Amino acid sequence: MTNKKDLVFATGNEHKVLEVNQILKESAFVAIPMSEKGVHEDIPETGETMEENAWQKADYLKAKLGVDCFAEDSGLEITALNMEPGIYTARYAGPQRSHDDNMDKVLANLKRKEDRSAQFRAVVTLIVNGERKSFEGIVKGQIATGRRGTGGFGYDPIFIPAGYEETFAQLPDEVKNTISHRARAIEAMTNYLNRKDAKVPSIISVDWLKENINLDNLVIFDASTSTVNGNASEYSNQYLPNAIKANLKADFVDTESSLPNTFPDPQTSQQAIRNLGINDNSIVVVYDNLGLYSSPRFWYLLKALGHRNVAVLDGGLPAWIKAGYETKAAPEVSEGLGDFQASYHSKWLKTKEEVRNNLATKDFQLIDARSKGRFDATEAEPRAGLRGGHIPDSLSLPYTEVLEGGKYKSEADRKAIWNSLNTDQSVAFTCGSGMTACIDMLAFYDFVDVPMSIFDGSWTEWALDQTLPIVSNS
Ligand code: IMP
Repeated sequence: MTNKKDLVFATGNEHKVLEVNQILKESAFVAIPMSEKGVHEDIPETGETMEENAWQKADYLKAKLGVDCFAEDSGLEITALNMEPGIYTARYAGPQRSHDDNMDKVLANLKRKEDRSAQFRAVVTLIVNGERKSFEGIVKGQIATGRRGTGGFGYDPIFIPAGYEETFAQLPDEVKNTISHRARAIEAMTNYLNRKDAKVPSIISVDWLKENINLDNLVIFDASTSTVNGNASEYSNQYLPNAIKANLKADFVDTESSLPNTFPDPQTSQQAIRNLGINDNSIVVVYDNLGLYSSPRFWYLLKALGHRNVAVLDGGLPAWIKAGYETKAAPEVSEGLGDFQASYHSKWLKTKEEVRNNLATKDFQLIDARSKGRFDATEAEPRAGLRGGHIPDSLSLPYTEVLEGGKYKSEADRKAIWNSLNTDQSVAFTCGSGMTACIDMLAFYDFVDVPMSIFDGSWTEWALDQTLPIVSNS
């Protein structure tokens, strides 16, 4: 990523700056420690909650420097100690005491307690363009019986995140910085900032497109494919005005993979995207001729490769035709190469190994977009010979549930569906081959802050591996 946007971080804690910048590595943002802006004093933290303290820090810096900034307040909450040390985490053993003293006090207080469950909680407060917003991240775990490991900072040597055997101080930085309270809150913040920065929402209506079709830099792509059952559109010979054909199955899959629709190598994809004439500052509109089928997959590919402005046409070509808008008998051909610079966000994609590890660690919630019949194995898989059922602990959300009449349900309805899933942790969507999972992900992307990803190999990859467990309700 070239032009990163600076956000001044209201902290004097070097470890936090390091961690936050590792978390922000693949994002469009970089955290600048406040010391680089000449602020060296300890900002007062006199609030009664982490939220209040985090706001005090962000407000102080905003008042002092007048720039976009963020702050973070975090702490350890231990169940058997009535969620203490909480806001006293940094000074649990006394104002001038060391991390070792703090950890010793926790270990001593838990000596005769059976319940060693605890959580780290982080609250991030952001002030950008005068807007104020806060984000929370939690990681659950256990307090170890003694100190282990040398990495990280603070209480890391005595905190074992759920599903792991090692403490935060023993786990590699990349692991801590994917699952920590701070990682979750910071990722929620970057998701919010990315959306705020985007020139278009992720789902646009046919009326919006009709009105804005001549907007500078707007480019339209037809990313139609047939379905896994071989169903094709009744409109396969019609195109939106100015639309260029994006050949998802030929140019945007890893052709070496034996699995369908595998995420392509980012460098190859960058070239394929440039070949379509896409620039960094393009506003990309994508649709398909089935309504909403493969266009969300193209949205996902472009977003995962770092494009900022990509929107899916709600209802696609059928909705455009139904609205009475003109179509063309042939697509346009792209003229010239675009300058799109890919910056691949690896966290948007889950591999089979990550999904397998997640069976124990439960770092993210898996959501399955296939039909309920396929999920329960009461309906045969469309791919010959594939066993039926689902990945243990996954939730069923058939993609048809987020649609109505070929379009997305209203945002209010989609919010209700999201709430009914009852998950405040990271989510990964899965389906048959990573195509319709993107329909589910897009349904929530514009209002959900938790990190979202796609299990690229999906059921096809999982079910083919006979060593992996499945649940079958048939
Ligand atoms: P704050 O700087 O006021 O947010 O205080 C947070 C305190 O919580 C730090 O001094 C640490 O002792 C502890 N803490 C917060 N996050 C972590 C972490 O990721 N690992 C270990 N200790 C942490």
